[in-house]
Amino acid sequence: MAGVAIEAVRERTDIVDLIGAKVRLRQAGRNLKGLCPFHEEKTPSFVVYPESQSYHCFGCGKSGDAFSFIMDTENLDFSDTLKLLAARAGVELESQRPQRRDPEIDRERARLIELNERAASYFTNLLWTSPAGSSARAVLEQRGVDRPTADRFGLGFAPDSFDALKSHFLAREIDEQDMLAAGLLTKNENTGRTYDRFRNRLTFPIRNRDGRVVGFGARALGDEKPKYLNSPQTPIFDKRSILYGLDKAYDTIRRERSMVIVEGYMDAIAAHQCGYENVVASMGTAITPNQVASIRRYLDRVYLALDSDTAGQMATLRGIDSMRESFVDDSRVEVSANRMIRFERTLGAEIRIVVLPEGKDPDEFIRAHPDAWPEALK
Ligand SMILES: [Zn+2]
Repeated sequence: MAGVAIEAVRERTDIVDLIGAKVRLRQAGRNLKGLCPFHEEKTPSFVVYPESQSYHCFGCGKSGDAFSFIMDTENLDFSDTLKLLAARAGVELESQRPQRRDPEIDRERARLIELNERAASYFTNLLWTSPAGSSARAVLEQRGVDRPTADRFGLGFAPDSFDALKSHFLAREIDEQDMLAAGLLTKNENTGRTYDRFRNRLTFPIRNRDGRVVGFGARALGDEKPKYLNSPQTPIFDKRSILYGLDKAYDTIRRERSMVIVEGYMDAIAAHQCGYENVVASMGTAITPNQVASIRRYLDRVYLALDSDTAGQMATLRGIDSMRESFVDDSRVEVSANRMIRFERTLGAEIRIVVLPEGKDPDEFIRAHPDAWPEALK
């Protein structure tokens, strides 16, 4: 479980916040610069990289991540560093057992990510080359998703088979237990047999902030239930702490200081295809504090553009409660008449609920009126 806790802490820690509390940082292009805390200097050569959540000093050569920064500046071992960062991020550690940074855990994470990325390539290849993929291609055509956009998001097709992916991987000497751990297979607890989790579905690789594939969302092409199926919780995937499309939206969100949250994969993809690149999807009905934690320092404004149906309305309300937790240092929340909630004392961050005209979902609306989207957010 240590790996999960470390990951949760990592996701909820922003290195700019962390280092910014100790070192005066100034924006320098995409990065930030300051006087190195590790050596004496008069001109800043210490650079913090928000995208990779790392730092490097061009003077003394020190570099690392949030964990190593605290270990070195506070003179703590890894276990105490984890405790400190967990407390700061509001992550509860499961036990008080001493935690080490286990290279085996890093290796396992890397292996599980690699399997998910190989599965994504396999599904993408089938989408465009297999005759059976025509049903998935038809959905994309019907939704107006063009080829460059589909490629950019790595969309794919999981065939209607219990062992297509499993056989493909076994033939490449990939361990069945690893496939299971990566969330690509499901195990029947009665028979002990494993089989492909995603069958006859359009697949959406879900990437972390760094753009690595950590799981999948998959839309049924037939009558399969549920209509949308996600990867299970794994050491690399926790649906409640990830926003779909954040890897592609990150730069734009930071530049525009605003983020639009939609509910579904297709909503986010439609927005990006039309050039609205600050859009991410919550992948479900509720928005959790963890999802927003890693990006909140860059936000002046968050738009919630959720589905128009009742479920969407409910999700909107729950989403607001979650946001309130995320902006936890704000004691005063003010709801104004135009349904806008303003969180005071948070860099002026506002949360706006977008009600789309004609009761449309974001995907439908953007496709029907691509140019009207900015106006709809106002
Ligand atoms: Zn230095």
